[in-house]
Amino acid sequence: MDGQNVQEFYLSSEKGIQRIVAKLVLCGDWGVGKTSIRRSFMGETFIQDHLSTLGADFAVNRVNVKEDIVLELQIWDLAGQPGFENLRQRFFKGAAAAMMVFDLTRPETFDNLDTWFEQLWRGQETKEMPIALLGNKNDLDSHKIDEAQLNEYIAKLRSDHGLENSYLSYFSTSALTGVNIEGCFNEISTALYQELKDEARSM
Ligand code: GDP
Ligand code: MG
Repeated sequence: MDGQNVQEFYLSSEKGIQRIVAKLVLCGDWGVGKTSIRRSFMGETFIQDHLSTLGADFAVNRVNVKEDIVLELQIWDLAGQPGFENLRQRFFKGAAAAMMVFDLTRPETFDNLDTWFEQLWRGQETKEMPIALLGNKNDLDSHKIDEAQLNEYIAKLRSDHGLENSYLSYFSTSALTGVNIEGCFNEISTALYQELKDEARSM
């Protein structure tokens, strides 16, 4: 159940199609839209007021990163703050990529990203994994985080954590309208595939 490490990812060949399995974790405070984003990407209908998931769960979706290469993303979604240490460890273990989600209308969810990064990286062999920052609920008017703030934050993340060479992108999304949802999953998948390929080559 615990996704594969970048180093442990496996390839299998089936009718000439290569399959790569990798774990992606959706991080961010309660209510920012993680479950809705996952559902939107999975093609499940957006539910206006669904109950937040109780523990952690995951769904698998396939992304064609190349004509003959399929990336099977195990998308993990955690309910609220990871309370139990046990669950927290299982959640982050072996993550090959991460989406850090905040709510554009609630600045505190942006401020809390640092804590999420800390938890993501704790126990990870490297901080260099594809990361997408998602400012969600862009369909609402009351945006509280501006682009300058975001650029500054990303630049600081890069320099503070030695991420100059790894994939780190920002998307303004809406799980309600679907804006940028497919785009961010496709991009992070391509980045992940590129990274795995480069690593395999340098081994
Ligand atoms: P999670 O706790 O991060 O999994 O957040 P949920 O996916 O459960 O969403 C929390 C609330 O925000 C729900 O009421 C959703 O309907 C709502 N929501 C999620 N994404 C969006 C969005 O992009 N736009 C708007 N307007 N509401 C959203
Ligand atoms: Mg949820």
